[in-house]
Amino acid sequence: MSSKYDVVIKNGFVVYPDKTVLADVGINGDSIAKLGPADSLSGTKVINAEGCYVLPGLIDPHTHPVYLDNLQDLSKTAAWGGVTTVIHYAYAKPGQSLLQIIKQWKEEAGKTSYIDFALHGGLFETIKQADELPDAFKEGVTSFKMFLSYAKLGWMTDDYALTKAMDIIGREGGMAALHAENGLAIDYIQDKLLAEKADITERFLETSPALAEAEAIFRSVYLGRLMKCPVYIPHISSREAMEVIEYLKSRKFPVIAETCPQYLSRTWDILKEFGPLGKVGPAIKTQDDQDALWDSVENKLIDTIGSDHAPKPKKIDDNFFDAPYGTPEIETMLANVWHSGVNSGKITPNDIARITSENSARIMGLFPKKGRLDEGSDADIVVFDPAKQWTISHTNQHTNASYSIFEGREILGKVDTVLSRGKVIIENDTFSGQAGDGKFHATKSGEWFKNNYKF
Ligand SMILES: [Zn+2]
Repeated sequence: MSSKYDVVIKNGFVVYPDKTVLADVGINGDSIAKLGPADSLSGTKVINAEGCYVLPGLIDPHTHPVYLDNLQDLSKTAAWGGVTTVIHYAYAKPGQSLLQIIKQWKEEAGKTSYIDFALHGGLFETIKQADELPDAFKEGVTSFKMFLSYAKLGWMTDDYALTKAMDIIGREGGMAALHAENGLAIDYIQDKLLAEKADITERFLETSPALAEAEAIFRSVYLGRLMKCPVYIPHISSREAMEVIEYLKSRKFPVIAETCPQYLSRTWDILKEFGPLGKVGPAIKTQDDQDALWDSVENKLIDTIGSDHAPKPKKIDDNFFDAPYGTPEIETMLANVWHSGVNSGKITPNDIARITSENSARIMGLFPKKGRLDEGSDADIVVFDPAKQWTISHTNQHTNASYSIFEGREILGKVDTVLSRGKVIIENDTFSGQAGDGKFHATKSGEWFKNNYKF
């Protein structure tokens, strides 16, 4: 008799970016001990995955645990969605110390998170906070978000401060992440519409134009090249932006492209139904933009999918202009992308493994512990049932938000079982995670670029 594993996931289709294998997964402790032929391994606990896909736990590179869901709540709703590692944006608002925020979040999430986590820094007052960047690296944080948008709010990083930050980040071996929309141009357009007393719900798209997104991507990636600093562009929303990304990648500029489920599964006309609930930044755009994003996933111009989970307190009859940007997304991310992408034949389960897990692990320097179901890797695993039919509603989600912009959407395919470092945390619609089980992971976001790009 061969050895017995702590847990065996039996007879599932184990998915990699490059192959799908009908196999048993044997787990001992935290990690994957053995991949064997179907029905070959025995375990103390056996999970029957027949007819299901066995995916690497999702790594969500884009989360905001500061609104209706805090660090603990977000990690729970994430787990329900098949996410086993979250990379939060630790935002240092103007006047705050980036280093203090990073230390506080590490401590709080270390005590309360159900799943593993890492942090990006977020700079709202870049010219001052950039001086803290070298210390942030010592804390295991190597990627840093700045805003080229939101000038009126006082959050915009201008080109002078951006160049300074990129100089330091490049030298330390990290990565800059930019909210890429031209903030001053957008402020002018907003002011003009407000002066005209225009219907902002109707004309919301004009306040988040694809051209302003494309321009900011182009500018920031060029400045990154100048300062030898890799650039990550979160939440890409338009065809115009993807054309710039295609050009930059053809020139071998170090840039990573992320989009989100809301841009892949919704178009801007949801605002008619959902009003301010559907307000996100950048705006969800047209069907043509959505088609371009799917093409980009298919042809590998999109590297990662992030949720941009940011459930804000708002109601459908709130004033549209004053309503905050953001939606709950993390729990429905995998199901939405699967349903819109795999069920329609646009992409394969292998693409899902690539864009929701392995690429993020590689780019953030968490590979090979995370991102792939190999022997020796952390046993972060999702068993996904492609035949399960269900309907998205805010009432069957675990976020504290009381709405979903996918309300009523019928989905084929559902997260069935989730393991976080070998421990079953979701099974039979029951959550059994422990607060504080999640571990902090230091990132090494620059290393992948060093191996893949010439600066
Ligand atoms: Zn975001």
